[in-house]
Amino acid sequence: MPAAKLGRSGSKRQTTARVGSAAKAATNWTPRGGPQYGSAMRIGLGNLKGRASVVLGERVLDVERASAGRFSADPMAAVERWDAFVEWAHGLRTGEADTALDESHLGPPVPRPAKVFAIGLNYREHAKEAGLELPATPMVFTKFPTCLVGPRAAVVLSSAYVDWEVELVVVIGRGGDRIATDRALGHVAGYTIGQDISDRRLQFSDRPPQFSLGKSINTFGPIGPAIVPLDAFTDPNDLALTCDVAGESMQAARTSDMIFAVPELVAYLSRFCTLEPGDLIFTGTPSGVGSTRDPRRYLKEGEEIVSRIEGIGTMVNRCVAPRAAD
Ligand code: ZN
Repeated sequence: MPAAKLGRSGSKRQTTARVGSAAKAATNWTPRGGPQYGSAMRIGLGNLKGRASVVLGERVLDVERASAGRFSADPMAAVERWDAFVEWAHGLRTGEADTALDESHLGPPVPRPAKVFAIGLNYREHAKEAGLELPATPMVFTKFPTCLVGPRAAVVLSSAYVDWEVELVVVIGRGGDRIATDRALGHVAGYTIGQDISDRRLQFSDRPPQFSLGKSINTFGPIGPAIVPLDAFTDPNDLALTCDVAGESMQAARTSDMIFAVPELVAYLSRFCTLEPGDLIFTGTPSGVGSTRDPRRYLKEGEEIVSRIEGIGTMVNRCVAPRAAD
């Protein structure tokens, strides 16, 4: 993709600001067969206790207060004015009105998207492990927005067949329809991490299977820790992503192994649906999910799911049992 479209990367690429203790532990982590894991998020838009917040490494600023009201406290409003917001945020420096970031207070960085698309079978190795042919066009389903939770939220297990899927999540910044592939990244605000948590029993219970309900159970969409602007990545099309469960490495891949890259997904979806600011695209998961392991392996109460993407950071989601019916 043309580097010129990314704009302001420059010297900021070298910054190694990190977020939170879990990200610190990841500093020297290396994916299997891959190069050194890169830096965590340097700058991003987070949702701190419901308020739009700029995350600067391990510090955080309240958007409404730091901008003297130019931007409102609603995280959705910052996404809707993304270019102006990013330009303003890039001028911020830590040390004044900022406070230490406590990631346990972060909610989903996009709390109320109009649409949440998700893509099935978008990594070559994952298609192989599932025993399926490579799709000719993206396989699209939806996750209902009420499943979204923050990067440290608990995942409530709905059955004994709940699985993990670490995914790069695209946040649309500029809407449109019939978007050309070579202009598609211009419509992307940035990226965040997502877990497309899936109840495999429910996912495959219908004939023919329809995925949406089994992937939309409350808490089945952790996203975060923040939206990292596209221009903060050295190469936004080639990022290491991993998922560990209960301390064991389960998934490790690079987004460059996607069958349909982000620009193709944006262009494809916009052929049918008008994309709007804040819309999310879960871009598919690499190999290593529990349901294709031998023996099969599902999430258990008390286990932690640790999801990482290069240049974005880390999510840590603990699995809990469902509460008794009200
Ligand atoms: Zn998925």
